[in-house]
This record gives sequence, structure tokens and C-alpha cells, in this order.
Amino acid sequence: MGLLSEGSPLSWEETKNLADHVRKHGIIQFINLYKRLRDRQGDILKWGDEVEYMLVKFDDEAKTAKLSLRAAEILKTLNEKEYNDPDNIKSLWRPEYGAYMLEGTPGKPYGGLLVHFNVVEANMKYRRQEASKLLEPNEVLMSLTNFPRTGAHDFTDPPTHPTPNSESSKSLFFPDEAIYPGHPRFKTLTRNIRQRRGEKVAINIPIYKDKNVRSPFKEDFGPLIENESSCAAKEDHIYMDAMGFGMGCCCLQLTFQACNIEEARTLYDQLTPLCPIMLALTAASPFYRGYISDVDCRWNVISCSVDCRTQEERGLKRLNENKFRISKSRYDSIDSYLSEQGEKYNDVPLTYDDEVYKQLTDNGIDKLLAQHIAHLFIRDTVSLFSEKVHQNDLEDTDHFENIQSTNWQTMRFKPPPPNSSIGWRVEFRPCEVQITDFENAAIVCFIVLLTRVILSYKLNLLIPISKVDKNMARAQRRNAVIAETFWFRRDITSDVKKQDDGQPECTEFTVNEIINGKDGVFPGLIPLVNSYLASMDVDADTHCTVQAYMKLIQKRASGELLTTAAWLRKEVVSHPEYKNDSVITQRINYDLLKKVQKIVSNEISCPELLGTCISSKTNETIPAAVAKAEKVPM
Ligand code: ADP
Ligand code: MG
Ligand code: MG
Ligand code: MG
Ligand code: MG
Repeated sequence: MGLLSEGSPLSWEETKNLADHVRKHGIIQFINLYKRLRDRQGDILKWGDEVEYMLVKFDDEAKTAKLSLRAAEILKTLNEKEYNDPDNIKSLWRPEYGAYMLEGTPGKPYGGLLVHFNVVEANMKYRRQEASKLLEPNEVLMSLTNFPRTGAHDFTDPPTHPTPNSESSKSLFFPDEAIYPGHPRFKTLTRNIRQRRGEKVAINIPIYKDKNVRSPFKEDFGPLIENESSCAAKEDHIYMDAMGFGMGCCCLQLTFQACNIEEARTLYDQLTPLCPIMLALTAASPFYRGYISDVDCRWNVISCSVDCRTQEERGLKRLNENKFRISKSRYDSIDSYLSEQGEKYNDVPLTYDDEVYKQLTDNGIDKLLAQHIAHLFIRDTVSLFSEKVHQNDLEDTDHFENIQSTNWQTMRFKPPPPNSSIGWRVEFRPCEVQITDFENAAIVCFIVLLTRVILSYKLNLLIPISKVDKNMARAQRRNAVIAETFWFRRDITSDVKKQDDGQPECTEFTVNEIINGKDGVFPGLIPLVNSYLASMDVDADTHCTVQAYMKLIQKRASGELLTTAAWLRKEVVSHPEYKNDSVITQRINYDLLKKVQKIVSNEISCPELLGTCISSKTNETIPAAVAKAEKVPM
């Protein structure tokens, strides 16, 4: 989203009473937008990454590492730069959920030249340095998917205490002060999601049962603790009760501009089966609330952390006040494909309001897009500002964006913003963020290259949506890259007509087989990328950079290198202070994050995570001469 609009948030009661108003006008706004922009053509490939960071404060005497709640201060300075020179800055900074979080993107999107791959990592490094210059001694910017001790005793700097009777979370563990204070959106969302649900959010993640974890594992939250948490906490699980446990995690996202709406729909669909695969491959968050969990990814944690569904909607009570049973949280994997090719794989029943659907189709919107929008619009607004209630539906799209931007799904179909030169875009949202810029750049370049390969080879990766859902569950399991198989399309290269050889369309592969190929059975995504690159005239630097990145992806997939999650686990369980009790103490956390920091700053190497070839030819600017001479469009 752009700079968050300022304003005064309405109370939950007021917001709730305006839910139908927002929906009604949001749909009208989408219809108007669609009529204006459906035929927009000729946009070129542009793309950009979003990296989220945490501020960590080390105390080298006490041997502690804590989340530093200074993001708002730092952001103020970073945004002044943008305000003063919006056209020439190399980075853009935005607030995120945590008072310790920042989101950084390149100052301008990248374009469709292969040479742009050389700039990605350098720009990420630039961002890291730029923000780091504003930090206090011993304060460090880290791209961690989750901070291991979020919500554990004494995890913030300055120190805070849980605020179970507060306005927003009412959490036993995550204080409201750890929510970004610089904009009312985040606290308002937290309060409204909790109030809409009718109870606190409940996140239960299986604990890693190391040999000294008691059985069953059940925590005592103290005598004063209200029934709600005691009932919600499950045995053998790490219990969390606040939006901050999920939305306070960091991720890596990518947005692509398509040449028109059709191409955007194709990319949206084709990237969908890759979401669970990339989630497994980027797994980086095995620790929650100071414990080792039995999962490697944040996904279900965030999903539960913003699950605003009432008991009726979750199927625990008969429908009475609510209209629908709803099978997923508003943060989850997508439920339907958008392209004609995808239609036959939409095998999950879609919940939506028939009247909204009819209104969309009566206005010339086809079935697939209409059901997608109608399905997004089963949700109520969970944050509304008084200044935004009344809008001009012919020009504004705020009510549409209100619902769209709080459907946090694996993929997002982004229409062009009003009065802009931006086209139809697609966002790829599953990836966990990695600790180094090298890894993040590798993932970003791999996905961008895949979009080019998919479009130019007309690949078809589609499998039934129900199987993508199954893969999402598998992807989060401990060590999924090595231990799990995933549903994937068997033949992605030949068209449907030629494919009728009696074999099932999809089968189960390991991540290694999907990425690196399986002899005579599956070509592998990286070999396809390489054959695509071989057909292009790639300059030497770009070739070197891209190969370093592809090698990293290949070795992570084959198990030759550890995933971030596997490496983090290994570090903790081999720490001298670790007692096989799945507990991450202050000291273990301190030593772990110090080591991460040394790897990021190149003070030590980490071949088991990164391999030995971690140098790319990355450069902050592409020499004009190279850009001209090597003008190889993707
Ligand atoms: P959001 O948080 O809504 O996903 P952001 O504005 O934070 O969106 O990030 C969007 C990403 O899209 C950034 O990396 C940005 O560089 C990139 N981007 C900007 N303009 C375009 C465009 N026209 N096409 C594709 N990507 C773009
Ligand atoms: Mg963003
Ligand atoms: Mg965002
Ligand atoms: Mg973000
Ligand atoms: Mg985004």
C-alpha cells in the first residue's frame, strides 16, 4: 500500500454498523474501476520486492537481544528523505505491524531487462545500510521472519509488560506498546478483529517434543488468568493470543506488472501452485514465544492471528447473526483461479453473496472474476476512518481497497490504482524472509525468472485448488523440503490436448524433484529457467549473478544446504545452555542472533546455509553503457 492515509478510526460499533455500506460502495467502486481499466493494454514488465525487517537491541553485558520499539522514530527520518526528494531516492520505507518493524522497497520498480538482476541485491544492501545508519549503538536491523522470543518474558527494549486489560490485544504476552504507535491502523485492526470474533484470537502451534519437554506440555498462566486463555490453550502446543504473534512476523513479497488484465490473471493462477513450494523452500520461522515449535513456517500463525470469524462463521454454532459459514481466515491461501485455463481446477466450494455476484456479472464482469471479488467481499471491514466513510464511487477506490487489502492471501490480484500510470499487477506473498540480502535477492530473481519462463514457454502448472491447500499444510511441517512430497502437475510443458496419455494430471514430487527435475519424468524448474536463459544473450555479469542465485535455490531444494529454519534449529539445539526442553533462553537467543548478525555482515561464513559461492556481481547502478549494449528484454 502507499503511504497510509491519516485519519480518525471509528469505534468497532460504528465500523460494524457501516459494514454493508463499505461493501456496497466497494463493489460499485470495483465495477467502475473495471469498466475504466479492463481494456488497458501495453504495460510492460515492472516488478519490485518488499522486505520486512526487525530492530534488535543487543546488550553485550547482560547477553540479551530484544526487540527495539523505535521503528516509528527511524521511519520518521527515512520518510523525510522521501518527502524532500521523492523522484531520486533509492528506497521507500513503510510502517508495519510491530513497533519494532520496518518495510523497505526499492525506490522505483525494476524493469524488464535481465541486467536488472544485478541491482536487486545491491539495493537490498543499500536499504539495510541506510536504515542502519540511524540506529543506536548495539541496535541492529535484521531480516528475521520471527524473533525467537516474541511474547516471552522481557522481550522488548525498552522493557514492557503485557497488557491483558488494554484496548487492543488483551494479550497475556504481547503488550500493546509493541504494536506500531505511529499510525492508528494497526491498533484499530487488532481491536476490531478481536471484537468481531467475540473473543481473543487463539493460536496453537505444536511444540517440538524434545526429550525433556514434559508430557503433556501444558503451561500454567497463573491463578488470575481468565478462563478464555486457559480454555483456548491446547496441550502440547505453544499458545499465543494476539495479532502481534503473526502480523509481527516479517516476510518477503514480490509484485509484478502484467501487460494487460489477461496476463495478470494467467500469472496469478500459474504462480499459485508455487506458493506452498516456495513456502517450504524459504521456511525460516521455527521458534515462537521462546519455544522451539514443530513447524518451520509462520503461515498458520499469521492466519490464526487475524482470524476475525465468529463462532457461527467457524461452524461452532448454528448460523443466526451471521450470513455464512466461512472455511478460512481472511489470511490464507487463495480459493479460486482467475484464468479460463484455471476454471476446471476450481474444486473448492466458494462462499459468496449471490446478490453481489449477480451485481458484478450484470455489469459485464465474467464469472471467474466476479466470484473472486464476491468471495473477498464476504468479509466485513475491520478498520474504517471517519474521513473515508463518504466517497465518490466514480473516482475513489478506498472502500474496495479496504476489503481487498485485508484479505491477506498467498496471491493478490491488484487492479491499477486510480489516476496512475500503473497497470494490472499480481503479488506473490508466501515467502519467508531470509537473513541475508544474497538469499533474498536469489529468491526474488528466481520467481521473476519463473514468470518469464511461464509466459514465454506457455507452461501450465495448474492443479486443483484443493491440492494447493493440502500442499500449504505440508509446506509448514518441520523439514518439509526434505521430508515431504507435494502435489504438482506432472506435465507442465505440453498443452492439454497432447497430454491425454492416461496418466493422472498431477502427482507427488519432492521439492528437489520440482526444482531440479526428475530424470525422464519432470524437467525441473531451474533447468527450465536455465534453458530460457541460454536462449537469451546474457552479459557475463548478469550470468554470474543469476547463476549464483540459482545454485543457492538448487542446493536448498536438494538438501545440500540447510533451510533457514533447519539452520536455526541446529544452532539452538547445539547451544551449550540448551537443555533439550525446547526453551530458547535469553542467552541462547542472544548468541543465535549475534551469530546471524556476523553472517550478515560477512564477519563469519556459513557454508551449510549459504554454500561457498555467495558473491554475485551485484551493483547499485547498472552502468548506462551496459544497459544500452545489453538491452536484452526478458
Ligand atoms: P503492498 O504493500 O500493497 O503490497 P508496496 O507499495 O509496499 O505494496 O510494494 C509494492 C511493490 O511493487 C514494490 O516493490 C514496488 O517497487 C513495486 N512496484 C511499484 N510500481 C510497480 C509497477 N507499476 N509494477 C510492478 N511493481 C511495482
Ligand atoms: Mg508494502
Ligand atoms: Mg503490505
Ligand atoms: Mg508488509
Ligand atoms: Mg505487499
